Amino acid sequence: MEHALLKARLTRSILLSEKTKHLEFEVEDAPAFDFVPGQFISVREPRGEKFITRAYSLASPPRADNTFDLCLNRVDEGFMSNYLCDRAVGDVVNLHGPHGVFVLKPDVDDMIFVATGTGVAPFRSMAQHLFGRDGSGQDRHYGRQVHLVYGTRYPEDVYYRQEFEQLAAEEPDFHYTPTLSRPPESWSGARGYVQEHVRQIVGERKDMHVYICGLNEMVSATRKLLIEECGWEKKRVIYERYD
Ligand SMILES: Cc1cc2nc3c(=O)[nH]c(=O)nc-3n(C[C@H](O)[C@H](O)[C@H](O)COP(=O)(O)OP(=O)(O)OC[C@H]3O[C@@H](n4cnc5c(N)ncnc54)[C@H](O)[C@@H]3O)c2cc1C
Repeated sequence: MEHALLKARLTRSILLSEKTKHLEFEVEDAPAFDFVPGQFISVREPRGEKFITRAYSLASPPRADNTFDLCLNRVDEGFMSNYLCDRAVGDVVNLHGPHGVFVLKPDVDDMIFVATGTGVAPFRSMAQHLFGRDGSGQDRHYGRQVHLVYGTRYPEDVYYRQEFEQLAAEEPDFHYTPTLSRPPESWSGARGYVQEHVRQIVGERKDMHVYICGLNEMVSATRKLLIEECGWEKKRVIYERYD
């Protein structure tokens, strides 16, 4: 099936780390761009005589206007990630969407978001949505506990750190654990892989929802921990793999 193509103009580009960018777009000729937190768009661009299409999670919550954000990193030898990171403010990209079923369950339980790298993108959308940071001020977390466990190697790769720290300072129900696998001595925060911290948070519980996003290796390891080692029901572990 052919998807209707949209055009979006880049309005802001921020370097988050050496290889990672936060990009803000405005959909052209549309008053609004509606989607569900956790969904992605498909960017479609020509390369020679072919078209290349790649998925990117929406890193912003749905807003009352036509804007959205992406968070993406340059993949070595990759076409689309470098194409997008090389765009300048004012450039227009082609896309279709929103797509995807990696969205919050309607029965809101306590939840853990688990991410590595740019896998944090859908959780920025979900967290801002749940805690009314989408311009609406509307609370949608209904007193549930929301944990974000974010793993990376070095402190400079903890994307949106200030934003999440501020949310955790303002919202007693939001808990933020950035954990480093290769921390410098000066790092006073959590250490090790995300799975170790997920295990600590769940303890003996099996009644939460865990949402996982990132590269397959981490997603598989976290699913294995919860389903095989902790005996969780599969339906409580929701995931999106980037590779
Ligand atoms: C549902 C979904 C949502 C996604 N959301 C995001 C997002 O928000 N941000 C983001 O940065 N990426 C995201 N991705 C990954 C993205 O779609 C591309 O796969 C990635 O940008 C590489 O595309 P490319 O054309 O540059 O490289 P390609 O030419 O496709 O790949 C080049 C090489 O890199 C490997 N590779 C592919 N993807 C990755 C990766 N992510 N990391 C390391 N190696 C890789 C490939 O196996 C290949 O060998 C998402 C993927 C999916 C399926």
